[in-house]
Amino acid sequence: MKILLLGPQGCGKGTIGDMLAERMGIPHVSSGEMLRAIPENDPNYKVANDYMSRGELVPQDIVAALLKERFSRDDCKNGFILEGWGRCRLDLELFDPVFDKVIVLNISRDTSIKRISGRRLCDSDGKVYNIYTLPKEELENCQGNLIQRADDTEEAVNRRLDIYYSDTQEVIDDFKLQEKVLEIDAEPLPDEIFSNVLSALGLQ
Ligand code: AMP
Repeated sequence: MKILLLGPQGCGKGTIGDMLAERMGIPHVSSGEMLRAIPENDPNYKVANDYMSRGELVPQDIVAALLKERFSRDDCKNGFILEGWGRCRLDLELFDPVFDKVIVLNISRDTSIKRISGRRLCDSDGKVYNIYTLPKEELENCQGNLIQRADDTEEAVNRRLDIYYSDTQEVIDDFKLQEKVLEIDAEPLPDEIFSNVLSALGLQ
């Protein structure tokens, strides 16, 4: 099954994508992760990082090329969970894998800003924490330094949210016409959201 995960920043696409991928035995692919993993000596490194740090969309032909290469690999032949693509109609004009289902994780704009301002990454293993919601013991056991993503500033988050509520909303409306959209309330904790996602997909 080919699943697209959409939702405003901080809705839990990364967390739910990982949980779903494990449960369904298919890969979880994130365009944002792929862009952040571009090595410094790659010709696209500087341009991608300039756009990302401003909270703007990286030129879509760069992202489409990364995704096409990723999906040509063997582990994607039975499907995948994609997160980060379909931010605007142009994305799907450049690359449309023909999704079976589109899961939209809904949270308020206030929740987005709160969750993103508390988001921290471990610079050693890349694990994502939230200083407001994650249990203290887990944070204390973290082996690395906690860093904030360069595009998690309030200004960049607001710019990304503006794109979501204009351009991505148009994409969601298109998928609604195709009856592919499953809307999930993503305000609760991850286990509850995940259980609701599984029910919506008919997997529990
Ligand atoms: P994310 O990890 O999904 O929050 O994405 C972080 C940043 O990567 C975005 O703000 C964009 O600058 C860039 N990005 C991720 N996916 C795309 C995409 N499909 N098209 C263009 N830029 C993207």
